[in-house]
Amino acid sequence: MQAERETMGAKPPLRVLLANPRGFCAGVERAIETVERALAQHGAPVYVRHEIVHNARVCDALRAKGAVFVEDLAEVPAGSVVIFSAHGVPRRVEEEAAAAHHAIIDATCPLVAKVHGGARRYQAEGRTVILIGHRGHVEVEGTLGQVDTPLTVVASAADVAALEMPADTPVAYVTQTTLSVTDTQGIIEAIRTRFPDTVGPETRDICYATQNRQQAVREIAEEVDLVLVVGARNSSNSNRLVEIAEDEGVPARLVPAATDFDPAWLEGSATVGITAGASAPQVIVDELLERLAEHRALTVEAQKGVRENITFKLPREIDGRDRARRLAV
Ligand code: SF4
Repeated sequence: MQAERETMGAKPPLRVLLANPRGFCAGVERAIETVERALAQHGAPVYVRHEIVHNARVCDALRAKGAVFVEDLAEVPAGSVVIFSAHGVPRRVEEEAAAAHHAIIDATCPLVAKVHGGARRYQAEGRTVILIGHRGHVEVEGTLGQVDTPLTVVASAADVAALEMPADTPVAYVTQTTLSVTDTQGIIEAIRTRFPDTVGPETRDICYATQNRQQAVREIAEEVDLVLVVGARNSSNSNRLVEIAEDEGVPARLVPAATDFDPAWLEGSATVGITAGASAPQVIVDELLERLAEHRALTVEAQKGVRENITFKLPREIDGRDRARRLAV
């Protein structure tokens, strides 16, 4: 651990461990930059289907620059610039956008697109594809809509046990990118046990950023009395970080904004760990530290952690190779 900052005073001391890595992943950085560049290239408004990433602070900042977030493309005037969020969209949405002659910019994270491709490939091989994930999450709905025949969705080993399929069914699985690595391994084992002819990508569909943030929070949980996870309530990977800290036996709180922090949480805590979901900006971590400093004399240290150097190319419609494309209807 490296000392980052010290604020001393008459307040009781609090040691803060900052998890590393935490906060923005490469897919989120790419999605935000895509909206910013689209605004610069096309002018406001640009329409974004769903929150570009699951964070109100990020979306509010983009909204102030001219982004308009919609859940339904019926709200978008024909011929507009439309960006698909990092979570991906079903084909139905791509077709609606094409039919309305929108200029489409696809900010689907390449790691989500890889899951779409995997599901299609397994289906083409004649396998029954099981999607491990949470039904209703926008990424899962996108994946379900990117394949030719329906996928079977499971979120637990109990769901696998309840599947009404013969044991000799050729099966493949794909996963949501932001699941708990440990839980997913258990579900994969349950699938392999019930259906011996199973293929799949181990846990590699769970993206590098999710895995690194989960490992970091698991490690700091060994040293702290409380874990604060900066992230939105609808952020899957942030919720998993809370659960992982709790699984390690440490109380954990989700903190969507610094104003949500309750000083009563600190009661009995000498050391607090802070992490942030992949869609949570560092500014909220900084504001949370300021809130903590109102009540305690902080010593802030940063976990050494894994250094991430992954970046994704911007969508081809935005990086200069191509202007926004119009899909053929
Ligand atoms: Fe992509 Fe992973 Fe970030 Fe999701 S969490 S946007 S899959 S890099």
